Amino acid sequence: MQAIIVVVAGDGVGPEVTNEAIRVLKTIERKFSYSFTFSHHLIGGIAIDTTGKALPDDTLQAAQSADAVLLGAVGGPKWDNTQAKTRPEDGLLAIRKAMKLYANLRPVRAIPVLAYCSPLRPELLEGVDFMVVRELTGGLYFGTPKERRQEGTAVLGIDTMAYYDYEIKRIMKLAFEVAQGRRKQLASVDKANVLETSRMWREIAIETAKGFPDVTLSNVLVDTAAMRLVMAPKQFDVLVTENTFGDILTDEAAVLTGSMGLLPSASFGEEANRHGKQLGLYEPIHGSAPDIAGKDIANPIGTILSAAMLLRYSLGLENEAHLIETAVEQALNEGCRTADIKQDGLKILSTVEITDEIIKRL
Ligand code: NAD
Repeated sequence: MQAIIVVVAGDGVGPEVTNEAIRVLKTIERKFSYSFTFSHHLIGGIAIDTTGKALPDDTLQAAQSADAVLLGAVGGPKWDNTQAKTRPEDGLLAIRKAMKLYANLRPVRAIPVLAYCSPLRPELLEGVDFMVVRELTGGLYFGTPKERRQEGTAVLGIDTMAYYDYEIKRIMKLAFEVAQGRRKQLASVDKANVLETSRMWREIAIETAKGFPDVTLSNVLVDTAAMRLVMAPKQFDVLVTENTFGDILTDEAAVLTGSMGLLPSASFGEEANRHGKQLGLYEPIHGSAPDIAGKDIANPIGTILSAAMLLRYSLGLENEAHLIETAVEQALNEGCRTADIKQDGLKILSTVEITDEIIKRL
């Protein structure tokens, strides 16, 4: 197995957590005599500072010809000027667009030994294991017009929520396929009582369901979904939702497990890599965590589990992915903790030390 993995570490804790994921991937590479090439490129704030662009051309080209892309995080207070023409997040949206990524998959699984970190009572967490499938290319983040207009003495800010039917059809099909590979329950989340795009979303969900008779579809309003995620999260198997709702619900779902630092994600498009697998982009769900950046205390597990997803979906290395996931679970079960998941009586490990523990168990 030969693979070219483009690494865009980005800002804040991005470089720290991607470094650790690379160490884990290099351990797999050695163990199985594979050949992984890691090609490092700029994105986000550091790319703006160095090149003036949030997504430099060479990063874009490298990503498009890679087998997979591993991303850290972008952004931070240094670039938070709302008047700035280019923002770090532009790099993120641009790479998703350039790689034609339309789906973001975020598995959320409660880890029993970490139940003390969760804001939910342990009995609500038992058996929580679901996947959120979020649409990435449409909706409020990309619709136009998107501008500010002077209207007399007032300034009008405008964003537009827009979806093409084909954008909804392809994400819906993927979500049904994901549900088929799991417990066969799909919750399609919308706001069909208010939004036109949501009414179209719901019609397409119902139409798509006809092709998947083995999957049970339920249509859930986004406000109800937000409530159920904290009241009864174990009732969910797969959720599919549009871009903005997905952005919000996935953060809500993330805290169920106890820390933003624990969860991985994968984004897929229509393109295959040279192995005939997904040309995916893999990243932890957290941001650049500027409050803890540079201190060697960030939890690298979300990025390490993203690397496991990379092996599974972009390289077809299911066993190796499973090996990493098992090593992470073992390390946690055996008391390894970073500061964000600290527990009385257990030593707090640094970013590097917890990775050492995971690597030991590989
Ligand atoms: P954040 O996810 O960076 O941090 C939220 C909280 O979680 C912070 O207290 C942080 O310390 C903690 N946290 C995050 N990752 C952690 C880790 N690996 N280990 C331990 N604790 C962790 O969200 P934010 O503070 O709202 O945003 C910070 C910056 O990141 C902003 O500039 C934002 O725009 C950007 N952001 C980027 C992405 C991305 O690159 N995909 C996503 C979200 C936010």
